[in-house]
Amino acid sequence: MEIVHVPVMVKEVLSYFGNLRGVFLDCTVGAGGHSEAILENIKGSVVIGIDVDEEILSVAKQRLKKYESEGRAKLLKATYVEAQRVLSQLGVKAVNGIIMDLGVSTLQLTKGERGFAFSSDGPLDMRMDKTQRLTAYDIVNFWQENQLRRIFFEYGEEKRYAGRIARFIVKNRPIETTAKFVEVIARALPEKERRFRRRHFATRVFQAIRIAVNNELENLRNFLVQVPDILNQNGRIIVISFHSLEDRIVKEAFRSIQELDVLTRKPVRPSLEEVRENPKARSAKMRIAERK
Ligand code: SAH
Repeated sequence: MEIVHVPVMVKEVLSYFGNLRGVFLDCTVGAGGHSEAILENIKGSVVIGIDVDEEILSVAKQRLKKYESEGRAKLLKATYVEAQRVLSQLGVKAVNGIIMDLGVSTLQLTKGERGFAFSSDGPLDMRMDKTQRLTAYDIVNFWQENQLRRIFFEYGEEKRYAGRIARFIVKNRPIETTAKFVEVIARALPEKERRFRRRHFATRVFQAIRIAVNNELENLRNFLVQVPDILNQNGRIIVISFHSLEDRIVKEAFRSIQELDVLTRKPVRPSLEEVRENPKARSAKMRIAERK
């Protein structure tokens, strides 16, 4: 079976981009789902798509080949933190639309060897950018117990058991694979926690490690402050996030950046119909702002 990543809230993205024309920046191009929707539906649009994951970028390149050869798409490996530099290298001062789809691509999640999944065994990796040095292995095996506790508490929102899990990890080192990591987390949790949580019991800890490996929250903050410089007047930015920490950062950044008008007091959520068809969309929250 071919694995696909179903892009979330595509209809909403297109409707909020509305009458915008011109150049769009896709900060997290992934498999190219949102970029393709923009290229197909917004007449004459040009998309600059970036991603730190080479493997996934090649999927987008394949998918958008036609548009690249027509000169309507430009896909390159870069972090969105450097968006401004990327644009200026392309001779683009500012764009009319920006989309960010945070979270993890299905293509990353389903490949055991990338180490993102608790359901298939693999090395403790979790790097989105394979040229980066820090991996999940380093964090799990070398960070101090109190550092681990802090990231489980803050990034994983694993409040009650953060300390216990950190202690069990330190006691069971070395931990080399995702399977062993899941086993150690299981041992640290009481049975009722393992069995009755709505999501898999290792979800929060995996999320915490992933955020730490990829510096996700810092990156998001560092990007958002640049938005006024790279968005044209009346241009819009759409951010889709998948957990409350990211959503809060987006909400606060939009509110504090004077040059932006917030178009969504509350985040836009996917329709029930979409969630039924694509359960991964259920936690998506979309916020939109417009450059004054
Ligand atoms: N919208 C995409 C899916 C995006 S999934 C689609 O329709 O297919 C999120 C993507 O963000 C992943 O591919 C991940 O590699 C990428 N990503 C994570 N951190 C990034 C960063 N700092 N800069 C650029 N891309 C990043």
